[in-house]
Amino acid sequence: MAKYQLNLAHLYGNLLNTYSDVGNIIALRYYAIRMDTAINTTVISIGDQFNPDEFDLALFGGGQDYEQYVVSKDLPNKKAALSKFINDGKPLLAICGGYQLLGHFYIGADGKKIPGLGLLDHYTLSQDNHRFIGNITIKDEKTGNEYHGFENHNGRTFLGKGERPLGKVITGNGNNGEDGTEGAIYKEVYCSYFHGPILTRNGEIAKHLLLTALHNKYPAADLSTQRSLLIKPTF
Ligand code: GLN
Repeated sequence: MAKYQLNLAHLYGNLLNTYSDVGNIIALRYYAIRMDTAINTTVISIGDQFNPDEFDLALFGGGQDYEQYVVSKDLPNKKAALSKFINDGKPLLAICGGYQLLGHFYIGADGKKIPGLGLLDHYTLSQDNHRFIGNITIKDEKTGNEYHGFENHNGRTFLGKGERPLGKVITGNGNNGEDGTEGAIYKEVYCSYFHGPILTRNGEIAKHLLLTALHNKYPAADLSTQRSLLIKPTF
């Protein structure tokens, strides 16, 4: 039995699951084993209650516009709980469609406005008959880490107050193809357009999310072994 237990909420995991985003959970488990930690996953979907105090970390994956529209109808029921989760500094990884839905709105490829939670201050516009598809490399200017992934999105996201990009685009399009940013970080919410899945190719992010969740849940524990697994400890 592992020394530590983390409960992960896979938000709308049965609907928002494109391009193997579920692989992020496999990557988290891979690193968690090295941190003497077990991860228990629960899919929280349409009509389910989300109790923020029961969970230590969360994944909100990407999806097609139709599924995003379906999810957007249920989101208001979970807004207060998600807000608490985020404000408690719990780690949430949001990919592509999930990233868009944390912001104010997403204009789908058909021009229809899909409302988001507005918990983060970004918004996402559409582009005509075009998608950003291909390999992408970015650099987090704060940590110096380089991240690699594969983007495939119609949406063009513009960041708002309190958000900083996950990285600066080196090759690829990123958030909107204009301002050289990719993804967003707000408190312990990590957002990105990277599929791949992001955590299998960028283990430093996985380790950071796990360490943050462990630190929150076990504030008195000596996590130096866990911390030493990070190449550049961020705290
Ligand atoms: N449907 C959204 C878009 O096309 C999100 C896509 C995704 O999650 N891969 O921008």
